[in-house]
Parts: sequence; C-alpha cells; structure tokens
Amino acid sequence: MQVCAPSPESRIGTVHLVGAGPGDPDLLTLRAARLIMSTALIVHDGLVSPEILSMARKGARLVSVAKARSRHTMAQEAINALLVREALAGHDVVRLKGGDPFIFGRGGEEAQACRAAGVPVQVVPGITSALGASAAAQIPLTHRDSASIVSFVAGQCKGLAEQNWAGLAGQGRTLVIFMGVATAPEIAEKLMADGLAPETPVAVIENATRTEMRTLRGPLAGLPDLVQEQRVRSPALIVIGEVAAQSDQTIRDFVPTTGALEAEQ
Ligand code: SAH
Repeated sequence: MQVCAPSPESRIGTVHLVGAGPGDPDLLTLRAARLIMSTALIVHDGLVSPEILSMARKGARLVSVAKARSRHTMAQEAINALLVREALAGHDVVRLKGGDPFIFGRGGEEAQACRAAGVPVQVVPGITSALGASAAAQIPLTHRDSASIVSFVAGQCKGLAEQNWAGLAGQGRTLVIFMGVATAPEIAEKLMADGLAPETPVAVIENATRTEMRTLRGPLAGLPDLVQEQRVRSPALIVIGEVAAQSDQTIRDFVPTTGALEAEQ
C-alpha cells in the first residue's frame, strides 16, 4: 500500500502564543526561549524587549504589531487575521507577548480566532509583569501579616467609573493595576470614594525588570501627583495595599507637594 505524504501546501502551521515575561531575558521560560530561537516567523507586540527579539534565529521574520491605543479593535482583528493567514500558508508562528499571554494580553481572543479557523494553538505561559515587578521591587503580593487576597485589575478600560471595585482593596488585600498610568487620578479617587484610606501605601513600578526600572512609593492620595510630577510612563504597574510599604528599603518615598494627603483627611 502506498501512503501519500501530505503535500507541503496542505500543511497548517501552529500558532504559539508565547509569554515573553516582563523584559529581562533571564525571565523567559526555556520553552519560550527554544521557540524564539527556532521559529522563522515572530509576531510581537510593543512590550517585548529588544534583548529578547535579538535571540531570534538568523533570517527570522520579525513582525511588530504594536498597537495604537485609540485603534485597538481594528488592530486586533488585523492581528488575528495575520496569524490565521500565516498558519494556513503552512508557517509556524511565535506570537510573542509581554508578560503572560492570558493576563490582559488578548491571548484569549487570538486563540479563539485561530481555533475558529482550524489553526492549532499552543500556549506558553510567561512571567506576568505583576510577578516580575513584585520580585524586582521586593514587594510580596501576599504576606501572612498583611495580605491574603490579590487582585489584578485593568485600569484602562471602558466605563472605569462604573466598575465595582469595592472589596478589591483594603485591609488584608493587594490590588495590582495594569495599564493605569493615564487613569491614575480616577483610580485614586474611585478607591477613596469606596472608603479606602488616603494614606494606604502605593508603589508604582515602571519598566519592571529592565535596566531603566523605577519604583516610586507614596500614599494613595498622592498617586495623581506622583504619576504627574515623576513623569511616570507606560509600562508601569500600580500596587496598592500594605505590602507596598514593604518594598526594598532603598526606595525613596514620594511626598506629594500639593498637600493632597491633608486635603483628603
Ligand atoms: N500580558 C502582560 C500585560 C499586558 S497589559 C503581563 O502579563 O504583564 C500592559 C500593561 O502591563 C502595561 O500597561 C503595564 O501596566 C504592565 N506591564 C507590562 N510590562 C511591564 C513592565 N516591564 N513593567 C511594569 N509594567 C508592565
């Protein structure tokens, strides 16, 4: 009996949704590193560090799909279509994302689009920036004395004011906010309106695990000033809760200049 090998045209590639971690290449998983070094097509977003991209094999095609904030929806559809098109053309794809693909990474949407088109998907977890930042700034997200609940929240989303965050922050809780730089004033206001004490410790970790990393600390009421006066830029995480005060003791506290703390009390 003669067995026919599938023709090269009929081969469907696999889309690997790969977490690149928070920036430091040492924080890649071995599986992520292996895929980055061996795959001919890498589709990456803007948060993937240049050091990690430089690990790609010689001649690999690197496609940046960094998104403009205002054009998310269209861009995401175009990205989904690109992944499906390449896989159906027989190419394996590494879809490389900052942190973990399934933590605010739109990995779920891309996996759905691939599955709907009959394209096989594999997911490689990455160290989410929340864990990378926690380690790098020495802020334990849980602590037997002060935090037994941790929440990850997106600060940049539609209808922020209407969202119910009650219970996410406060005694015994740590709140980690992603994409919250632009909305920091609304976030602080919302949490204090929900009853969180203005002096609750806050840490802002910018560029976690990268050479240009900065950690800034202060009280919740001073968060808007901190972000503005220190010119905090994305990517940055905001950690709110008692644990934020336990960070690396070499970090200097930010004292609001406008007396925001007193004004709130
Ligand atoms: N999938 C990613 C999150 C994507 S959303 C993850 O698991 O980390 C993008 C947000 O992640 C940024 O706005 C920022 O809040 C956070 N972020 C990503 N990388 C970061 C880094 N190196 N330092 C601080 N925050 C980071």
